[in-house]
Amino acid sequence: MTTRRHFIWLLPASGAALLAACSESAPPPAAAPTAQPVPASPPEAPVTAPAQAPAQTPSATGPMVDATEPTAVALGYVTLASAVDKVKHPNFAEGSACGNCALYQGAVGSAAGPCPLFTGKQVAAKGWCASYVKKTT
Ligand code: SF4
Repeated sequence: MTTRRHFIWLLPASGAALLAACSESAPPPAAAPTAQPVPASPPEAPVTAPAQAPAQTPSATGPMVDATEPTAVALGYVTLASAVDKVKHPNFAEGSACGNCALYQGAVGSAAGPCPLFTGKQVAAKGWCASYVKKTT
């Protein structure tokens, strides 16, 4: 007959035996993955500063704006300020022309030059449009 004292005495021994039995039947641990040689990475290209885009300068050699093209018509552009329809453009002031407009990008005294309203083209220095802004300097 097993007494309680005897059972308690047997418990650690049976637990150890049980652990030993379990560890023997357990599958062997998986082999550690072998380290694969890492291919050498290609040499990095030297870091260089990104090429800067050339500064955007208005073209002084673009084609002349055609007064009949849609943008020109919409702005009331004329190649000769004296030809402005003063009824249609009552804000026109005598003496105003592309050549003395703040948006005109041609050289002083030039016959024609770029205007940001007509990208890539030139307006006549003696021309005018409804977007005229008097040059202050
Ligand atoms: S904005 Fe000035 S420079 Fe350009 S077309 Fe009109 S008047 Fe001429």
